[in-house]
Amino acid sequence: MLSFTKQGIFCKQANVYIDPWKPVERAIISHGHSDHARRGHKNYLCVQESKEIIRHRLGKKINIDTLTFGERRTINGVTFSFHPAGHIIGSAQIRVEYKGEIWVFSGDYKTEDDGISGAFEPIPCHAFITESTFGLPFYQWQPQHKVAEEINNWWRLNKVHNRVSLLAGYSLGKAQRLIHLLDDSIGKIYTNDTVEDINEIVRMQGVPLKATTRIHQGMKAEDFVGNIIIAPSSALHIDFEKANCEVSEAVASGWMAIRKMRINRKVDRGFVLSDHADWPGLNAAIRATGAEHVFVTHGYTNMFSKWLCEQGINAIPVSTKYVGELLEKKS
Ligand SMILES: [Zn+2]
Ligand SMILES: [Zn+2]
Repeated sequence: MLSFTKQGIFCKQANVYIDPWKPVERAIISHGHSDHARRGHKNYLCVQESKEIIRHRLGKKINIDTLTFGERRTINGVTFSFHPAGHIIGSAQIRVEYKGEIWVFSGDYKTEDDGISGAFEPIPCHAFITESTFGLPFYQWQPQHKVAEEINNWWRLNKVHNRVSLLAGYSLGKAQRLIHLLDDSIGKIYTNDTVEDINEIVRMQGVPLKATTRIHQGMKAEDFVGNIIIAPSSALHIDFEKANCEVSEAVASGWMAIRKMRINRKVDRGFVLSDHADWPGLNAAIRATGAEHVFVTHGYTNMFSKWLCEQGINAIPVSTKYVGELLEKKS
């Protein structure tokens, strides 16, 4: 029912593409990240919660239509619907049904409910297209309240030592999740423009984010002492050194599970916090679909497919243009 073409994942019967990477007539979009929501399509269809995010990133002029979660849209006999993927705010899996056959495209997903992105919903299907960003047994996440504790302890200690805490995570998704996890009784939460622009959009949609302050030019390095900044260091134009302010820099990402990545980032702390499913999460999600056929996209596609085949599932790796967990500079 769905095929993998040069433009993207294609439903021929409906003449619709899912998260296409080349410009097409009709695109159904899983979420706002730049490897999934690209420029140049004639018509976009996404879930309500993603609309303003996508318009913010691709321009107000795009032709965009929405459905609510669970609402169905039938195009030439094929029924499409969006279901929570738990990855970031407004992220959806895409369910496709034609003559009783059901396929589900996972997009990016996370099985732990983070409190702001919506809880991942397992959908029974015949074929499941899954990501595999962290598809190795090595990747097993701590529950997020534990990671939150580590982050807040780090912030508290920095405050005691009169340091500025600088925590980087990509602007759409990770930044909001970090803000959600911070203990704002410790100090103030500052953000840069790209993060705060997204914050404003999601607050307008009713997501209860903690209070944050947008960094502006008139602020002095001293203003941030004891407080935390959610932004990549490259986005900041504050001369902490000149002001003699000590900064502790940290990154929150699933990739921080790898020692080499922590060292390469040259940061003081790496918090292992991902918006993608870990190994147990991927396996549980796939089992819950009951799918006989699994197509494995971006990540450890070959190894993870092989593992699934050993478990008696017909799995094959497919190549797409999606990328896994983004590092903090990208979106
Ligand atoms: Zn994503
Ligand atoms: Zn992605």
